[in-house]
Amino acid sequence: MSKSGAGRYAPSPSGRLHLGNLRTAMVAWLFARSTGRKFLMRIEDVDRGRDAGVADEQLAELAAIGLDWDGEPVVQTERREAHDAAIAVLMERGLVYECTCTRREILDAPSAPHAAPGAYPGICRDRDETERAAARAAIAPRQPALRLRSDVTELSFNDILLGKVTAAIDDFVLQRGDGAIAYNLAVVVDDADMGVDQVVRGDDLASSTPRQMLLQRLLGLPTPQYAHVPLVLGPTGARLAKRDGAVTLEDLAEQGVSATTVRDNLAASLGLAQLGESLTMTELLARFDPQLLPREPWVWSR
Ligand code: GLU
Repeated sequence: MSKSGAGRYAPSPSGRLHLGNLRTAMVAWLFARSTGRKFLMRIEDVDRGRDAGVADEQLAELAAIGLDWDGEPVVQTERREAHDAAIAVLMERGLVYECTCTRREILDAPSAPHAAPGAYPGICRDRDETERAAARAAIAPRQPALRLRSDVTELSFNDILLGKVTAAIDDFVLQRGDGAIAYNLAVVVDDADMGVDQVVRGDDLASSTPRQMLLQRLLGLPTPQYAHVPLVLGPTGARLAKRDGAVTLEDLAEQGVSATTVRDNLAASLGLAQLGESLTMTELLARFDPQLLPREPWVWSR
């Protein structure tokens, strides 16, 4: 078993973790620990700025179901210098351009020939210095976003759980108009700096992976192995959400359901235990076999 490398869990502090988040975190822990990797935690707050209260609650919830992690959680907004340095490297190579488009302008523009649906249509891609200055002045005090000048339209990878996944790549945003670093850039830089070589996360992010792989390639960073875990669906078949009732540890505790019982149910949903059986994470680790994980979404109902 390798003793190097790391897996991680990277929650966005946007609210309480629900059963789907907790289940993915359990799988990420099991993957990392069963391969002798470290398990690291990262608070992905680039989107909304730090909300330490929510992040602390999430960490307490992860601990309550029996997960542990190595070292202190990394806070994404504290890594701005590293993110800026990566953008500077890409800029130096002519791979970044300013984009002044509003969402409306993008939606209204005719799509480029052969472009994937929803791809950025390249409105700002080929501006010269004068055009760029005029476009900037026209949106002041709003600032332009920064986009990657991508020469690749799609990439594929082999996912441990999903098999071959192919997804489109366009000139995606690296830094938003409000100055915030975009998710794809932050994830790639942070995973590399943290020594993460195994990424386990929800399968709603599988289609972002090719963009991240392109950035890894352009920045000379290694590509981790990927396992995207099928989501948890609510009783209606849509992605599990607040409207489905008691879906967080807090809601369930109010109904007298303990964190241990939640873990037991999640373990059963992963095929690692029988319903009614109660096992610690260490006991689950002894049973863990990625080959046996369900490949279908788990439909949760009370
Ligand atoms: N922060 C993302 C989320 O909470 C996960 C990103 C990742 O694992 O790469 O959905």
